[in-house]
Amino acid sequence: MNKKIAKADINQWLAQLLKDYAVYAPTRVANYVAYRQIASPDDIVWDCLVTREPPKGVFFPQTETLFQYVRTASDLQLRPLDTVEGERILWGVRPCDVQALLVQDAVFNTPDVRDVYYANKRDKTTIIGIGCNRPLSTCFCTSVGGGPFKKEGVDVFLTDLGDAYLAEALTQKGKKLLQASWFHPASDKDLEAARAIEETALKHLPPPMNMEAIKQRLDAMINNPFWDEVQATCLGCGVCTFLCPVCHCFDIVDEGTSSCGQRVRNWDTCQYCIYTLEASGHNPRPSGKERTRQRLMHKFDYYLVNQGVIGCVGCGRCVQLCPVNLDIRQILVQLGAA
Ligand code: SF4
Ligand code: SF4
Repeated sequence: MNKKIAKADINQWLAQLLKDYAVYAPTRVANYVAYRQIASPDDIVWDCLVTREPPKGVFFPQTETLFQYVRTASDLQLRPLDTVEGERILWGVRPCDVQALLVQDAVFNTPDVRDVYYANKRDKTTIIGIGCNRPLSTCFCTSVGGGPFKKEGVDVFLTDLGDAYLAEALTQKGKKLLQASWFHPASDKDLEAARAIEETALKHLPPPMNMEAIKQRLDAMINNPFWDEVQATCLGCGVCTFLCPVCHCFDIVDEGTSSCGQRVRNWDTCQYCIYTLEASGHNPRPSGKERTRQRLMHKFDYYLVNQGVIGCVGCGRCVQLCPVNLDIRQILVQLGAA
């Protein structure tokens, strides 16, 4: 059943949740907004549609200690770290960022491959998503299978009705959260208002691109001079990948001595030349051309073949934050004409 909570009551609900859960929500970090653990409902930034950092770090931190090791003459002890014990809530996630978590699941948490660190955090986290009443000019989620009110992957979905939130529980975990006394049954009028908000939001998004045609085009473009043009302005800074909610390249390093230390996993990027540098000195992606091509090919071709999903959710972060304004949407449009 759909329920409704008045905006005047939302902080009381959040305060209640904070007693039982570690809550991660969009909050101000220095001069930008990112998902961090909050201490109070007042820490939440409500008016940010696309946070600078995506919420992927809640499950796949930028730096994560996997274990510590101590070696003695007769023994080697491993102490796993960074596992989560208590229940957590990821609050206020946009549909594109939830879709990105589903793409990351297809990499880190499958029946065949279970990354215990990622899976532990996913298992312990209840997701409260929120629809996007006013998509940004950089959003293109409907081109890549998403939408501003897509509910897949959330436990509770909120729609901002103005003076209240419509709240829909999609899972048992979600139903439990909506049992709080601040929730009341939503009326037909509320549901009609939510439908109208969604229709208006969709009008703010560009017409969907044909991703199947783009994939087929990419299949035939491995040696196309198009990649020379695309990479000509790219600085290789990696911003587009570090801030992408889908990208998940990492590097693992051992810090310490042969007798004690720790193994750490850090975000990395396929846009750095050293990422594919082999011990022999050979580099299969020696220039920006191969690395830019890899980014596009992986997201819009290899992902579909290997995981059955597109490796982009149309959040527009890379469009907003690329220092030389390389626009992935324009590249996709140009691909059709290359
Ligand atoms: S490639 Fe760009 S638009 Fe697509 S999900 Fe990553 S940051 Fe968002
Ligand atoms: S890309 Fe779509 S889901 Fe993501 S913030 Fe924009 S409108 Fe919302």
